[in-house]
Amino acid sequence: MSDLFAFNGAQGAGYAQPKPISEAFTIPVDLQRSKLPRWPRASEPEIVRHYTWLSTRSHGIDSGFYPLGSCTMKHNPRVNERIVQMPGMNDLHALAPASHLQGLMAIFHEMQEMLAHCAGMDTVTLQPVAGAQGEFTAMRCIQEYHREIGQSNRDKVIVPDSAHGTNPASAAMCGYDIIEIPSLENGRLDLDALRAVVGDDTAAMMVTNPSTLGIFEPEIAEASEIVHAAGGQMYYDGANFNAILGKTNPGLMGFDAVHYNLHKTFSQPHGGGGPGAGPIGVKEHLSDYLPAPLVVADEDEEGEIWFDWYSPPKSIGKVQQWHGNSGATVRAWAFYRRYGCDLEKMSEHAVLNANYLRHRIMNPSQEVLNQIHAMPIDGAPADVVKHEFTLSMTPVKDVTGVTGKDMAKRLLDYGYMAPTLYFPMIVPECLMFEPTETESKDAIDQFADDFLHILTEDPELVKTAPHDTPVKRVDEVWAARNLILRHPCDGE
Ligand SMILES: *Cc1c(COP(=O)(O)O)cnc(C)c1O
Repeated sequence: MSDLFAFNGAQGAGYAQPKPISEAFTIPVDLQRSKLPRWPRASEPEIVRHYTWLSTRSHGIDSGFYPLGSCTMKHNPRVNERIVQMPGMNDLHALAPASHLQGLMAIFHEMQEMLAHCAGMDTVTLQPVAGAQGEFTAMRCIQEYHREIGQSNRDKVIVPDSAHGTNPASAAMCGYDIIEIPSLENGRLDLDALRAVVGDDTAAMMVTNPSTLGIFEPEIAEASEIVHAAGGQMYYDGANFNAILGKTNPGLMGFDAVHYNLHKTFSQPHGGGGPGAGPIGVKEHLSDYLPAPLVVADEDEEGEIWFDWYSPPKSIGKVQQWHGNSGATVRAWAFYRRYGCDLEKMSEHAVLNANYLRHRIMNPSQEVLNQIHAMPIDGAPADVVKHEFTLSMTPVKDVTGVTGKDMAKRLLDYGYMAPTLYFPMIVPECLMFEPTETESKDAIDQFADDFLHILTEDPELVKTAPHDTPVKRVDEVWAARNLILRHPCDGE
């Protein structure tokens, strides 16, 4: 069978190798397979159809509204892809010398500077490839800092009960004990609860602000003072940066270290563990511990700017191969460059959209209200929220038996991605919405109308949803316990 036939034919392999240009390049006989592997065999058209079909069985930001709270699923501008695929970005080798990578390094350097500026930090590393990895990296820097100043006895990390699960998990991976403090009735930080647990064993406090309830912590500066007075460090979970960028920054709030989720705040296709970037920024006293390499700018004799790699002297070591997820960094750079000085407009629109959606859902017309079995309650009692908000479905569950999960499943039938469910855990039957700045008023109005309409539907219909998706209600526990992660190509 010729290679061309293999490529196009129905029995084909879906790939073609160029013919060797000389005998010297053929694989020695004793290294060749005696039996074909039991891989699925399909022609190129069959493979294209398979993946195109698969792509239509899922929901993505390009197929519809995706209000997944905390995840910041914003539109990914196509220009980002154009830029990241330019040969100067795409065809580089990780081992190429700095002199061959000046363009990419200029982008890295600009990102380091921009991110440091936005967060009020001194030094940024682009190494970590996820928010969670950024958390771990920063907590390790804090740990080394304490060791160096003779305070390695500090082994406790304080987190509020509204924290994202990665916060306690990252601290625990560094070997810290976690102290969880309860939030106040109104969802805010409880400073008395904080005062009761800080001490000379406090290594750090980790805080998300605005919190996962979408509300800004007005007493954050005081919380920082309490922790600093006890000798602890303040860590800022930057997943909610979309709410405050250009308006205020964690440096002003008293934080010592932050992570950025570039794939959230600065767009980038993500989800399902997809590619991301979780750079961290730190204040000067932590800078020497950052993982290498950083990019530094120098001037040569002719006044020409020159970029070089730099390893901080007391670095905790590498947390990622090569230069981190450079593709994600370049996409985020392209995104930010389009906004330029108007970056704060992004946050303004994100906050406006969240408040508008919340207002629309919580204030149905009298006509609609008359048909609704029960209304959810506001999970974050505050006049204004930031870029996301929570609702508790408890009253609806009490009257009709429809849970937050049922509501989320029914929204799939209407062509929406479900909101985040049962997080934060302090709101019972929690649904968490984040529309992001890239949704139009029309899209938000339609979603609010559909959400309210579901509250008027026959509860049985909602409890058995989804009805119109390729896969109906799945047994999530079974799926999580019985993972099938590879094709049975060995025949078992
Ligand atoms: C997404 C998120 C994280 C973790 O970020 P990843 O990039 O998913 O690892 C941490 N905290 C909050 C509040 C988040 O929303």
